[in-house]
Amino acid sequence: MLDSLPGASVYHIDFQISEDFLLLKGHEAVRYTNREDEPLTEVYFRLFPNTSGGATRVSGVKVDGQAVEPVYEFADSAMRVPLTSALEPGQQTQIHMDFEVEVAREMAGNYGLFGYFEGVLVLDEFYPVIPVYDDEGWNVEVPPPNSDSSYFDASFYLVSVDAPAESIVVASGVEVARQQEGDRQVLTFAAGPARDFYLAASDNYRLVSQTVGETTVNSYALSDRMEGAELALQFAIGALNSFNTRFGTYPYTEFDIISTPMQALGIEYPGTVGIALNLYDPDAEILGLPSQVMLESTVAHEVGHQWFYSIVGNDQIDEPWLDEALTQYVTGLYFLDAYGESAAQSYRGSWEGRWDRVDRANIPIGLPAGAYQGNEYGAIVYGRGPLFIATLAEEMGQETFDAFLRDYYQSHKWGIGTGVAFKQLAEQHCGCDLTDLFEDWVYDQ
Ligand SMILES: [Zn+2]
Repeated sequence: MLDSLPGASVYHIDFQISEDFLLLKGHEAVRYTNREDEPLTEVYFRLFPNTSGGATRVSGVKVDGQAVEPVYEFADSAMRVPLTSALEPGQQTQIHMDFEVEVAREMAGNYGLFGYFEGVLVLDEFYPVIPVYDDEGWNVEVPPPNSDSSYFDASFYLVSVDAPAESIVVASGVEVARQQEGDRQVLTFAAGPARDFYLAASDNYRLVSQTVGETTVNSYALSDRMEGAELALQFAIGALNSFNTRFGTYPYTEFDIISTPMQALGIEYPGTVGIALNLYDPDAEILGLPSQVMLESTVAHEVGHQWFYSIVGNDQIDEPWLDEALTQYVTGLYFLDAYGESAAQSYRGSWEGRWDRVDRANIPIGLPAGAYQGNEYGAIVYGRGPLFIATLAEEMGQETFDAFLRDYYQSHKWGIGTGVAFKQLAEQHCGCDLTDLFEDWVYDQ
């Protein structure tokens, strides 16, 4: 993969997790290549802890060995690093920095995906990370409160974490080295190509695993919730089998499902998904359904994101429908493959139920996340969105649509998909004009 992604950013991160899990201290070195067609005079980094209830402090920023003064913007969620001279297309630069992160103790932002809660450390977007540069320039903004905020290019990671020895540390990629010294352990993870690096840790995690093809599926949960961990494992295996066959084989040798505290149902990362703790409680009822039913659809959805978000990226802030509506739709395909048409029908009912929450208002599914008010985001992007994809499949014919979706995946592998490219490729496959349909559902007329 290294050869097929020349110029992908390479992150080397070393950091320490304090004994109480509330402070991270580390060093980051990034090799960044200008893959745009114009010279760049600055590189941005996102500092998401500053808007997720914690705090990031960066010091000692150096560009190719020379100290530079960064500028903080967008409520300190972005750091602009001026380059010492313009970086021409194809040129590389090495950026080094020290960082210190205060871990959130309350679920203050971003659905509680970053912090230390109930004995579990969850590190969503905790390190300084370079956003995508595209036709809008650098993608930096104050993160909208309702959507996923990550929009990064596929990169390579080598991350070494020094953590309390008794904690079970789960992270993106694969563990390549482990050392134990007294009450500390140092674990090294290699990941890539990957759009992000995620880590969770708890003293109380236990593991069940199974292998599918060349992939080891690991399911971690708190020790009294291992029945849930076993269920999540089986649901993930079913979903991996379904999507491997439909779109192309899952690219990593490892897939981790981690039960974590959060205010959402689940969250996707490359090679890793977080699933809300309460879905593992056999007696819980969630949104009026038994926890096991919600666990299955949530696990299948987050597995689906491995194809649509992780391998094929998209701007999750400006075009959240591209990964979320598609992933809702492919979750329906999982139910179809696993149980047949009537199970798929009943799952599709959940899309109708979501859209009903805004009285089936004809709000376009293709708006930026920040343009939706109140409960519109969930109702439109996750409800009306997959109903659009199903309507598109009907209009194109199911077989043509299936071939198109596979092609969309294959042709944007490790790149970025856009709504425009999605529509063009669909039209190419059906030999038809889909403008009216997209105007009815996707865009403001
Ligand atoms: Zn999702």
